[in-house]
Amino acid sequence: MVKHRNIVETLEPYRPGKPISEVKRELGLTDVIKLASNENPLGCSPKAVEALIKWTQEASLYPDGNCTELRNALAKRFNLEPEQFLFGAGSDEILEMIAQTYINPGDTTITCWPSFSRYEAVTRIMDGTMIKVPLRKDYRFDLEGILKSITVNTRIIWLCNPNNPTGTIITAKEQKAFLEKVPREVLVVLDEAYYEYAHGRDYPESIELLEEYDNIIILRTFSKAYGLAGLRIGYAISHKETIELLNRVRGPFNVNAAAQAAALAALDDQEFVQRSVQTNEKGKRYLYQAFEEMGLEYIPTHTNFIMVNVEKNSADVFKALLQKGVIIRAGDIFDMDNWIRVTIGTPEQNRRFIEALKEVLG
Ligand SMILES: *Cc1c(COP(=O)(O)O)cnc(C)c1O
Repeated sequence: MVKHRNIVETLEPYRPGKPISEVKRELGLTDVIKLASNENPLGCSPKAVEALIKWTQEASLYPDGNCTELRNALAKRFNLEPEQFLFGAGSDEILEMIAQTYINPGDTTITCWPSFSRYEAVTRIMDGTMIKVPLRKDYRFDLEGILKSITVNTRIIWLCNPNNPTGTIITAKEQKAFLEKVPREVLVVLDEAYYEYAHGRDYPESIELLEEYDNIIILRTFSKAYGLAGLRIGYAISHKETIELLNRVRGPFNVNAAAQAAALAALDDQEFVQRSVQTNEKGKRYLYQAFEEMGLEYIPTHTNFIMVNVEKNSADVFKALLQKGVIIRAGDIFDMDNWIRVTIGTPEQNRRFIEALKEVLG
């Protein structure tokens, strides 16, 4: 046997939400809905589909490794320099690149828990350690707790805003006060995967902070509100110098050409994004009301998913809902044993979920 790195033995593979096809096959069901991975229930922009069909004629060619057109379009949209962007096969891949760029063996990173599980995985793959500060009682990030956990070994702080799985936000004011107190030698990653759902009100416009703070990286994605999760494309926004470093560890053709073409077209269809956000808001109100009628506690959300306390073992509720053709996420993987996370779907999907949940909970 070839000797592998010690750390690999202690890593657990990512457990994704169950695919629809697998549930159909295993349970012999024909009508299955997936509200497990925070995908866009409206699909994606028809303009993106059109761009994909056009792209098929170029499938034999390598993609533009620089994502030039998309880079320029985003730079224009945000009034930034094209050199301030880095693209990845999902923001997932950018998390890896950040870890590869900044984490030496023995370094630590910090986040709160429960939050997005990839922060720990990418840290540990680099032989680093992640400190998990518990979320506050109101399920929000404990920024004071994070500040207290900073040591000379701290390289990165991961802020998931809004937080997956609780849907809570760090406000603009809180984030600003926090950044003021973080030493400039510590990188702060602002994971804004759900930006389009959250922005407005108290949510930070982090791009405005780039001028003042040279230690932040903002992460956005086309997977959620833009509905392109299957194509894998996300991006980082930061200072040219930071992006230049990250770009050294990036693979030459890491973002495929289909994803680039679709993302460019999707960016041009803000009407679709708006419709997605509006559908989500309506669905949110419907689910809130249904949970209230059922006497279930839920965490008010700034995203396209909701955590709800079903007061029963979440793995059991997950299985029972699966039997009814509804895939959700059990909270046990987030150490919230009696909670489930449900993606807000179309009105029809939301109704079907609530009906199934009522039957399951009796
Ligand atoms: C979905 C998600 C991502 C990753 O999205 P990609 O599909 O890899 O772009 C990153 N962070 C959080 C918190 C997410 O929920």
